Amino acid sequence: MHNKHNTFGFSTRAIHYGYDAQDHHGALVPPIYLSATFAFPTAEYGAGCFAGEESGHFYTRISNPTLALLESRMATLEGGEAAVAFSSGMGAIAATFWTLLRPGDEVIVSQTLYGCTFALLHHGIGEFGIKVRHVDLADLDALRAALSPATRMIYCETPANPNLQLIDIAAVAKIAHQQANVTMVVDNTYCTPYLQRPLELGADVVVHSATKYLSGHGDITAGIAVSRHDLAQRIRLQGLKDLTGAVLSPQDAFLLMRGLKTLALRMDRHCSNAQAVAEALQAHPAVESVTYPGLRSFPQYELAARQMKLSGGMIAFELKGGIATGKRFMNALKLFSRAVSLGDAESLAQHPASMTHSTYTPEERAQHGIAEGLVRLSVGLEDIADLLADIEQALAHCVKRAPASKPATHSA
Ligand SMILES: *Cc1c(COP(=O)(O)O)cnc(C)c1O
Repeated sequence: MHNKHNTFGFSTRAIHYGYDAQDHHGALVPPIYLSATFAFPTAEYGAGCFAGEESGHFYTRISNPTLALLESRMATLEGGEAAVAFSSGMGAIAATFWTLLRPGDEVIVSQTLYGCTFALLHHGIGEFGIKVRHVDLADLDALRAALSPATRMIYCETPANPNLQLIDIAAVAKIAHQQANVTMVVDNTYCTPYLQRPLELGADVVVHSATKYLSGHGDITAGIAVSRHDLAQRIRLQGLKDLTGAVLSPQDAFLLMRGLKTLALRMDRHCSNAQAVAEALQAHPAVESVTYPGLRSFPQYELAARQMKLSGGMIAFELKGGIATGKRFMNALKLFSRAVSLGDAESLAQHPASMTHSTYTPEERAQHGIAEGLVRLSVGLEDIADLLADIEQALAHCVKRAPASKPATHSA
């Protein structure tokens, strides 16, 4: 579709790819096709659509012109051949799992995962005869040892939600592909294709919660899977059409494309704001530790520099005094909102152990690297001076005051 846009840069494609206004009465902004169904010129043409011999649209759960434009843009931005849009990130992830895994198969997943992905694995597909193995994918020997003839998928997030641990995508993909029929799937929600393109590093499928940075304004839920033509077609016809039915609404596809136009600009600002907040946190006496890929102290600093264009907008940190101090900090925030989700224009703070990762038991959290006192920040697009002032005043509530000396007693 409109390959003339293929050679343009990232932002130019995010704005123009796949669309020619002259095909749409000169409308500069792509129209929204709200039609659920599409009329066939003849019965034979309709039969051809159902047989997959005609390429026309016939029902929106399977394809729609507005969704098709979004999908072609996401495919080009991720460096993939084709994409499938979903009504949520979990829709995209569930459809990918259900399409590619069968009873008796094994899936190897990284230690730390988004809470609902963890729940889908352990309370969802895990109960349908699919074996889930958690492996520290930073340890390539452990990965080699965990692979078995039944392994069909390796799945990871990098950086992981919420502890920001990185996985070396190229190294894991190389090991995955030494064995036939193993698909490597990467959740690229934290980075977006502007910062990291897993398919170019050897992964087979990229999934996204487009609810986050891709749409960027916190006003829709959406998901995307990007892959080769054959895999994307299977995910569409099994995972989307039959197994989940989690189709994106064309209205929301429009909002998502509007968000994509400013993705590069927004990510640059998210990253520079987050770098400044991370440095301020690290320098503060109330802070025990800060995890941010742009800090020299980040354990995988070299990998971050190699794999990610910039360091991202997410920060994890722990305060001295653990969970109680963490709560004091959260309650003292005035500009950062206490809210889950991420990637919005608004800065957000949340406490994974009681919120996004409460689907893990405390033992599971300890096992999967999610400290009880960890606070997660999604640094937004506000003025950095205002963000730093808010962090500073909230941290002031966390500094242990020197015990007040006993007031002098007046002996009567
Ligand atoms: C939010 C999120 C999801 C789930 O996406 P929804 O759009 O909320 O369904 C999956 N993975 C990661 C990393 C996320 O942050």
